[in-house]
Amino acid sequence: MEDFFNYEDLYKEYEVVIIGAGPAGLTAGIYAGRDNIRTLIVEKNFPGGQTAITDYIENYPGFPDGIRGSELADLMLKQALKFNVQIKYGICKRVEVENNYKYIFLENNIKIKTKALIIASGASPKHLGIPGENNFIGRGVSFCATCDGAFYKNKAVAVIGGGDSALQEGIYLTRFASKVYVIHRRNSLRASKGLQDKALNNPKLEFLWNSEVKKINGETKVESLTLFDKNKKVEYNLKIDGVFIYIGWIAETEPYRDLLTVDEFGFIEADENTKTNIDGIYVAGDIRSKVFRQIVTAIADGASAAKMAEHYIDDFLLKEVEK
Ligand SMILES: Cc1cc2nc3c(=O)[nH]c(=O)nc-3n(C[C@H](O)[C@H](O)[C@H](O)COP(=O)(O)OP(=O)(O)OC[C@H]3O[C@@H](n4cnc5c(N)ncnc54)[C@H](O)[C@@H]3O)c2cc1C
Repeated sequence: MEDFFNYEDLYKEYEVVIIGAGPAGLTAGIYAGRDNIRTLIVEKNFPGGQTAITDYIENYPGFPDGIRGSELADLMLKQALKFNVQIKYGICKRVEVENNYKYIFLENNIKIKTKALIIASGASPKHLGIPGENNFIGRGVSFCATCDGAFYKNKAVAVIGGGDSALQEGIYLTRFASKVYVIHRRNSLRASKGLQDKALNNPKLEFLWNSEVKKINGETKVESLTLFDKNKKVEYNLKIDGVFIYIGWIAETEPYRDLLTVDEFGFIEADENTKTNIDGIYVAGDIRSKVFRQIVTAIADGASAAKMAEHYIDDFLLKEVEK
């Protein structure tokens, strides 16, 4: 992967460093770079984050015919580079704060100094880890009903999980699908009572209790699930066209856990302007504790975080002058 990065600058100081080049990080970069702020994005994989691995996006405004995720990611990257944002490929391992400066430690003892830090390192949905799951992502396996539900008009789908997200998304899918099976490995739900009532009374939802998904089957796309009924101790196949997996999220918060306040699920807490419990550290996108994780909510956070960082840098410089 090409570093959009000048190695002579490595140990110099940045005004803002952004961890993660997903939609949130690239948007923060576009706003900061355009405001002439010396900006570096650190990215561990490739620009675009989850967007770059999404086949087709139909709900991002401005593209009435939809756009390929990789194309949207390329456009965001191009826009950030246009405003002189630098990109360094590497993994942020740890962050320390000293005299209001933030230090970002990458692998190979690389240490980067910055006044403001924006964490935009995203989150990823937990996988079941069963045969067929990875093969059919984008071809019947999905982790996002808002993103992919509309592709299942008059089809049968399954939702895996028993929490709030599983039920919410299951109910949402009934707008499109002819049938929605909710597959749960226990005989009671973890979801809130109000949501349970709504789901249990929805005629399009059918609950398969005490059931474990063992395999996702198909030729070129998902055709059925192999289920294990724990009561009857039998395995059987359920014909479906798509499966939506909601068994939780993994928040990429390990490098900041000692510094920042996280919620019960490990997502970083911040106010609506993305300000965390530490001055000069902002959090944007899927890694922020919030309800709705989409590209549009990630980029909104990215813009707010860049603006907040800019105000912080201005105050920082004023304080330096007054010293
Ligand atoms: C299959 C799929 C389909 C989707 N479809 C849609 C859709 O149709 N519409 C929609 O609005 N949303 C969709 N989403 C959700 C959307 O992609 C996310 O909400 C959005 O990408 C979040 O952006 P983000 O920048 O917060 O995080 P991410 O996109 O997750 O980007 C975070 C970046 O941070 C990097 N990173 C993480 N840790 C580190 C570290 N320690 N050091 C350096 N870099 C790090 C990661 O490599 C990644 O590139 C979909 C998601 C998936 C998985």
